[in-house]
Parts: sequence; structure tokens; C-alpha cells
Amino acid sequence: MKFRIPRGTADVLPKESRIWDFIEQTAKNVFKRYNYKEIRTPIFEHTELFQRGVGETTDIVEKEMYTFKDKGDRSLTLRPEGTASVVRSFVENKLYADPDPVKLYYIGPMFRYERPQSGRMRQFTQIGVEALGSNDPRIDAEVISMALRQFEEMGLDNLRLEINSVGCSSCRPVHREKLVTYLHDVKEQLCKDCQSRLERNPLRILDCKNETCKSLTKEAPTIEQHLCDDCRTHYEDLKGHLDSMGISYIENPRLVRGLDYYTQTAFEIMAEGIGAIGTICGGGRYNGLVGEIGGNDVPGIGYAFSIERIVLALKAKGIDLGLEQGLDVYLIALGQEAKTVATKILDNLRKNKLSADMDYLDRKMKAQMKAADRSDAQYVIIIGEDEIAKQKVILRNMETGDQKEVSFDDLIETISSQIIKR
Ligand SMILES: [Zn+2]
Ligand SMILES: [Zn+2]
Repeated sequence: MKFRIPRGTADVLPKESRIWDFIEQTAKNVFKRYNYKEIRTPIFEHTELFQRGVGETTDIVEKEMYTFKDKGDRSLTLRPEGTASVVRSFVENKLYADPDPVKLYYIGPMFRYERPQSGRMRQFTQIGVEALGSNDPRIDAEVISMALRQFEEMGLDNLRLEINSVGCSSCRPVHREKLVTYLHDVKEQLCKDCQSRLERNPLRILDCKNETCKSLTKEAPTIEQHLCDDCRTHYEDLKGHLDSMGISYIENPRLVRGLDYYTQTAFEIMAEGIGAIGTICGGGRYNGLVGEIGGNDVPGIGYAFSIERIVLALKAKGIDLGLEQGLDVYLIALGQEAKTVATKILDNLRKNKLSADMDYLDRKMKAQMKAADRSDAQYVIIIGEDEIAKQKVILRNMETGDQKEVSFDDLIETISSQIIKR
């Protein structure tokens, strides 16, 4: 019996995990500069959290969740996204009692039962951000600029930012009603999905990718025309802050979010020129979500992106992360006694913060030398019977080829003082 990986999942092998590490570290460095702190929530939650927090009418909740009963007959669900869990934790742990806005980020796997395709997996890994406690458009601008900065520092350019305002619970119903009336006359021509959206989630028709739907909604009433004074001011202020930071953007009136708890700012970031990858990040404001999940009304804004897509984007650009970092030291031991001594030296090197390894396959000198080459070590230590007798090792600088004898006692200091930290 041969086991195979489940459909829609992937192994990240060592060669590729370097890229993942680079993406995560780059994101974390930027989070630190912007004063965002990490939160780690469970992989599964009570199913009802996602029904409320993601929305019953969404594809995610209707079709894509990994829901199961545990042995105690509780309905649990592997998290399909990060925001609901973060907001649940924010309410449960009373983080709203913090006098300052709460700025959080998370990194971790999410699960959706979808048709797997390039950059879309059933288990995928998201990096996301939630800023809770402020409705100031400056924090919207901060969140957007942070996302762009992360992608730039990962080496992605030709980024395209699209923004929109989706209004609020007071101005959106007016637009929604006009939109439904407008689309009702052409209902039969809409795609199947949009016909059912018309009753449940009409805003989503505006971002349908179907060409007929696109042309039918071309002249449809936009949210922009219906924003209330508060929402209009918020949107204008956001644009002003983006302008002052020199961030260029495209206003896209079709950029919508279907659910009522989404408010005002919506944005997407695309990486251009990388084929079908397109959108790499989506985000927006959700002033109604904390209330939906049982907290008080606390405004919030966030975004998320999947590491898998960024890996694709980086690969498509042929981004070179430089050479793999080699070891500091590789030990070559010849003979039984030398191996015992080498084991002790190896442990001592590692204790002194040097990266080091040795042969565990009982290989001859030549094969051990090749292993040292493959490890790209800066130094090689050679120990044989002669060296043990003299209580010394041969230390070879692999860059220059110079070699000398060094006593056991001086070994760590000699290497530590000469090593070039990479
Ligand atoms: Zn409004
Ligand atoms: Zn459609």
C-alpha cells in the first residue's frame, strides 16, 4: 500500500520552505515596524462562529467548510479564514478593554473544500491582519500601505491597488434596493449564480466575472452614488491619506463585499504581469462584525493573503533568494576513537552557536570530503589517530584552502573569531 497526499494539499519541501520562511520573515519585519502583534488561535472552532462570522449565504459556509462532529457530538469546523477566530478571541479575552487600538496579525493554515487549482489549495496558509478599535481613515491607509510594503519588500513590483467604499448600514440599503430593481428586469439574462444572488446577495453580482453579467451591470447604480455623508467623508479622507503617502490606486466601483457587516473601505491588491495569479490580497473594513459575533460595536479593518499565491508570484518573477546558507563547520573523523572525539567536538561547536554536522554513514575520507563540499561549510575539521595523539585537529579554511593544526582547547575560539557570519 502506497500512501498519497490528500487532494488539495501539498508538502513544502526544504528547498521551497526557504521561500516560505522568507515570506513570513519579511511580513513579520513589516508588522513589527507598524506595531502589529501576533495572535495564534485554534485550527478549529465551533461551526456556528463561521456561520455567523463568515456569513450563511457565502460559498465558504454553504459549500466549502470542513465540518465534523467530535466524540462529544459538538459540531466543529476547521477554520476557513482567520478573521472570525481573531474577532472571537478579541471579544472572549476582552481585548477591547485596551485603551489603544488592538493591532493583530496571524499566520497559519486555513481549510476550504474547493476545486484545487494552481494557487488554490484545500489547505492553504494565510497571513492576515486585523486592526480593531478605530474608525479613523488613517488606519485604513496604514493597513493598505502595510500590505503594499510587505509585497514590495518580498520583491514584487507592478502592484496594482484597487479601492472602493461599500457604504454602511444606513446608506447601503438604499443602493441595494435600486440595484435589485434595476437588475430585476434583466434577471433571466444573468448567470445562474447571479440569479440566486439577486435575492440573497445582490451586491456580489457587481463583481461577477461572467461577461454577460458584466455588461448587464455596466450602467447599474453604483454604491458610490449613494454614499451617506459619513461614508463619503471617510472615503475622501482615505484617498487623501493615500495620496499624501504617494500610494497610487484605482477606484473600482465593482469592488464589493456581499455581507452586511462589511463597511466603507474595500481593497484588493493585484500583482500584474504574472499570468493568471491576479489578485494576491483582499481586505476591508468590517465595522459590523464584532457585534455580529457577540461583542459591542467595535470598528475593525483587515486583510489577508495566501503564502501559496505569493510563492507562485515570486517564482513567476524568477526571484532569486541567493545561495543557500552553508554550515559553519563540517567534521571529518577517521577511525573509531576519532569518531567519539568528533561527537564531543560537534556538540561543543553547536553549544557555542556554530552550525555544524558530521558523517553518520561510516564513509571513507573521500566521501566525507564530498559531504563537506555539499554542506558548503566554511571550515572543515579533520580528526584521525595522529591528531588524537597530539590532542589537536586539522582545521581547513574551505574558501582559501589554508590549513593548520589547532589544539582541542583553542578550537572553539579559533573558529568563532574567524568565522564569517552569513
Ligand atoms: Zn454610509
Ligand atoms: Zn453572474
